[in-house]
Amino acid sequence: MWSIESVVRLGWSLFKTVLRSAFSRRRELPRFMAQYRPDGMLTREPADHDAVIGAGRCIGCGACDVRAIELGRADALGPRGPMCFVQGISRQAGVDAPVSPQCSSELLDALSQACPVGVPFVALTELVRRRHAELSEARKMPAFRESILPPNLTSG
Ligand code: SF4
Repeated sequence: MWSIESVVRLGWSLFKTVLRSAFSRRRELPRFMAQYRPDGMLTREPADHDAVIGAGRCIGCGACDVRAIELGRADALGPRGPMCFVQGISRQAGVDAPVSPQCSSELLDALSQACPVGVPFVALTELVRRRHAELSEARKMPAFRESILPPNLTSG
């Protein structure tokens, strides 16, 4: 059974919450990111969504692997080849996807042209490089918690 006092308290709290959210300009996202950065929390950019959706288009035809082999760069996007690189990103965060120095913009353009479904190799590689950089920074923080992201998922 509700007492009048509890209803009044509840109403007052609701009123304060609505008022605060209507007039407050505090942005919580930066505070949230700062708090969880030591846990390996990665930023999200508006363009990330399109890049990851693009990776999800992969049909596993292997045309990018063939093109990379023809160009002598089969392992530029990791030892398992470009197709595994793309599929790894579409299913995981992409933090375990290695990107070698041989991964040039010419190679990424060639892979993009070989792909029949328009997987965005350039955007995906930029995304993975950014995530690698963020994780490197996070690992240097005193509060970084290794147990959250095992080393085998953060090396590369
Ligand atoms: S060419 Fe495109 S669709 Fe085919 S395996 Fe590579 S990324 Fe996937």
